[in-house]
Amino acid sequence: MLVFHTHKLAPRNDALGARRAMSLRETQAHVIDGEGFARELRADVEVHMKELLEAGVRTGLATVLVGEDYAAQAYERRVRRLAEELGCHYVAEDLAPDIEQADALAVVGKLNADPRVSGILILRPLPQQVAEAEIYRTLDPRKDIEAVHPENAGLLALGEPRFTPSTPASVFYMLDRYVEESGRDPKTFYNGLDLVLVGRSNNVGKPALWLGLARGATVVSAHHFTSQAGRLADHTMAADILIVAAGVPRLVTGEMVKEGVIAIDVGINPVKDEESGRVRLIGDLDFEGVAARAEAISPVPGGVGPITDVWLLRNALEAASHQARP
Ligand code: NAP
Repeated sequence: MLVFHTHKLAPRNDALGARRAMSLRETQAHVIDGEGFARELRADVEVHMKELLEAGVRTGLATVLVGEDYAAQAYERRVRRLAEELGCHYVAEDLAPDIEQADALAVVGKLNADPRVSGILILRPLPQQVAEAEIYRTLDPRKDIEAVHPENAGLLALGEPRFTPSTPASVFYMLDRYVEESGRDPKTFYNGLDLVLVGRSNNVGKPALWLGLARGATVVSAHHFTSQAGRLADHTMAADILIVAAGVPRLVTGEMVKEGVIAIDVGINPVKDEESGRVRLIGDLDFEGVAARAEAISPVPGGVGPITDVWLLRNALEAASHQARP
């Protein structure tokens, strides 16, 4: 297992930083700087990748994209750029939207067998004719860096992760670093706190649930039936730590949280600005409303997203390191 030591970098003095500083003055919450944490993490990944390369092992990442989903394509572009900047071997499998299951499985089989590929990311969504579960089961578990294969999902649930999926891992990396920077110990901070997760998807909500439990929090999982039953606010109101990953713009408003909550927004929702006609991204939290009551809040964009990209490469590096062992 690689051990990552985080370099603490000075905050950037740029437009984003200035905007954050302004939002800090306008709200009472601390706005968590995901970009800054992503830069720290990237610096560590870069050092370890170089060391591994000097030992003769090049990290390799493959992405599998079926069709032309806007968000998945954007993610593929970001990951490709990062992989190239870090000197990784990178393979993009861009498959036709009408690809048959057998052909998609054959692509996964080819990547499993390619010694230059250490980690594989299957981008969602997959079209209806491609059975997601069978694709995941076909992945070589040693290359399954998002822990979607049942073996890796099971290890994560048991608290013995081979890989920690990049989005929930980034949420907790952000939380741990924020807690640390605010003078508290992340090893004990979560003990007995009420952690409420909104969203229970296999790639974000459920793995986040295991990570929260492993840290000693009391975890509640809310989902669309919770909203349907009119009970969402009952739960969000109780949260000391609130993680929202539902994909519903401004689902959680200021009146739905308690004073002093630490609120992490995973949602990425494109919305069209009525005046300019331009598309911008907003989260699942009503930022201003929640920030007015929170101790800390992560913004969208510039929150969890940038850390997630780097974490994926970190997992590919870890996979390469494992696979290089005799
Ligand atoms: P998903 O697979 O669509 O799952 C959404 C989850 O939210 C489901 O569990 C659903 O409940 C729940 N939900 C939907 N509407 C709800 C409501 N009104 N009230 C309460 N719960 C509700 O989405 P995902 O892949 O987990 O992604 C969630 C969001 O995070 C999306 O906006 C996505 O773009 C974003 N995301 C961000 C990153 C990042 O790096 N920042 C990475 C991945 C995803 P049911 O299970 O009951 O249907």
